[in-house]
Amino acid sequence: MRRIVDGPPIGFVIDVVNGWASAVRHDAPGPDGPAYPDRSNLGERWGVTVPTLDDLTITDWANLAYDVFAATAEGRLAAANRILTSLDLRPVLASHGLRWRCSDDQLMGALLGASLVRYSSERDPGLAHLGTCVGVRCCDAYVDQSQGSTRRYCSTRCQNRTKTYRRRGHT
Ligand SMILES: [Zn+2]
Repeated sequence: MRRIVDGPPIGFVIDVVNGWASAVRHDAPGPDGPAYPDRSNLGERWGVTVPTLDDLTITDWANLAYDVFAATAEGRLAAANRILTSLDLRPVLASHGLRWRCSDDQLMGALLGASLVRYSSERDPGLAHLGTCVGVRCCDAYVDQSQGSTRRYCSTRCQNRTKTYRRRGHT
């Protein structure tokens, strides 16, 4: 089956990356790490139909998307283009804006790709404001919306945790 997808806000990509990407989950505490996030929340939160894929398939797509955030500034567009060229994604003009036609089995990739296209075209052509956290045992993806683009942590909580850790003599 073919379907038409919208490009969800970039927050959708961040939720998928931080919920499923191997690099992010690898750093999670505990022997098995936390459970995967609830997919229905993701759909509700961003107003998209989340495909009924198994978590490992979502992880494959999340890993590709993670590479976009973790790449150097120069490599970020290339990483995003790797997602787009791996998809059979066709643009469709609609009265409410640009939409994308994709096959059912590529739905997760299409949502991620369409979201990156939307974010790039509306706000950040070079994807310069995407990044990953430098906190201790954290590499979550984020969008830097700070004045002067100085963000380095996924959250204030993570920044404080890292400061405390370093203050105790760790490096
Ligand atoms: Zn962090």
